[in-house]
Amino acid sequence: MNKRIFFDHASATPLDARVLDAMLPYLQEEFGNPSSYLHSFGQQPCNALDKARRQVAAMINARPDEIIFTSGGTEANNLAVKGIALANEGKGKEILVSEIEHYSVLFAAQSLKRWGFEVKYLPVDKDGLLDPQDVRRAINPKTCLVCVMQANNEIGVIQDIPAISAITKKHGVSLHCDAVASAGTIPVDVQTLGVDSLSLSAQQFYGPKGTGALYLRKGVKIETQMQGGHQEMGRRSGTENVAGIVGLGAAAEIAVQELPQNMERLIVLRDRLLHGLKERIDYFNITGHPTRRLPGHVSFWVEFVEGESLLLCLDLEGIASASGSACSSNLRGQDEYDLAASHVLTAIGVPPEICHGSIAFTLGQGNTQEDVDYTLDVMPKIVARLRQMSPLYADKLRPGK
Ligand code: PMP
Repeated sequence: MNKRIFFDHASATPLDARVLDAMLPYLQEEFGNPSSYLHSFGQQPCNALDKARRQVAAMINARPDEIIFTSGGTEANNLAVKGIALANEGKGKEILVSEIEHYSVLFAAQSLKRWGFEVKYLPVDKDGLLDPQDVRRAINPKTCLVCVMQANNEIGVIQDIPAISAITKKHGVSLHCDAVASAGTIPVDVQTLGVDSLSLSAQQFYGPKGTGALYLRKGVKIETQMQGGHQEMGRRSGTENVAGIVGLGAAAEIAVQELPQNMERLIVLRDRLLHGLKERIDYFNITGHPTRRLPGHVSFWVEFVEGESLLLCLDLEGIASASGSACSSNLRGQDEYDLAASHVLTAIGVPPEICHGSIAFTLGQGNTQEDVDYTLDVMPKIVARLRQMSPLYADKLRPGK
């Protein structure tokens, strides 16, 4: 196998060399603790955190003091959901979450049940879109928080967050938005979106893993989930991951500068791959809205083919992709979610047995038209081979069927 194509950017992106250069001094000579700013060793790391805060704030059109550094998207979502709900429980103890939220939002919300909170789920249509009017209908005097992600990592669908925030604002309810899959990939402007909090993760836009941020609109109350120190203005204690945060800041600045050309290029590649596959493979179904989706995001299921087999065959041909099923998850059976079939695919009406047959190709900056054309050549052959072994497909082709 010579060719190696990475089509799994939703799981990780490679570190940009410019980001690594920015980080290196903070792993070596600039080792001081940013809280020790009274001596010279602490001052440079402290200034570096300030700069990264400005860079992240600029990326999403926020103020630097509205940025809380975290260990990534999971922590940012947990802090927002638990922190905002607990700080505002006087308003009511009901949380509304979209059915297709990431587990770090869903499980954080569910964990609040032990404090007497109730969690209600907002449905999406067959394309994965949430109707803002469903938010309007579901909000009631007990609602203290609404959570809707900007874009979904499994099916790429982009929600109409401004329309949703217009409703939450009218009712005086906080809106949290998970922008982990979208930040750095499409424009994220917290003023236009109208959200009260928003999470992002550096590893999704060519920054380091284990670093992220929570935007918290000024004036929104939050109960810290990490006690013990004064860092992040008391909102998230613990000595900061300075090198990681510097990387987050650098990656944010680069992402903003290069966003328009990256988006344009990825949309062309995405549509070439999506439409090319649909033309070449029969019984091919796109998951998620065909156009309201992330640039570079191609997700689908192929009838009469087992997804895991397809994934393995693609890997043998050098193409790394992701299965839409969470069947290998060690969370199986936890709480009320059946993780054997992806909750996202189940929410858009894909039957559980088919969820296993779904695939996501998430393209990134290193991908080329050659990668797409190679996949368009290889995949129909793999599908044909796998279908030869499928009794269901043979049954379909029998005369009279
Ligand atoms: N939300 C979404 C939509 C994600 O895709 C991910 C990661 N894949 C997360 C949250 C969690 O982010 P992290 O891995 O940085 O903790």
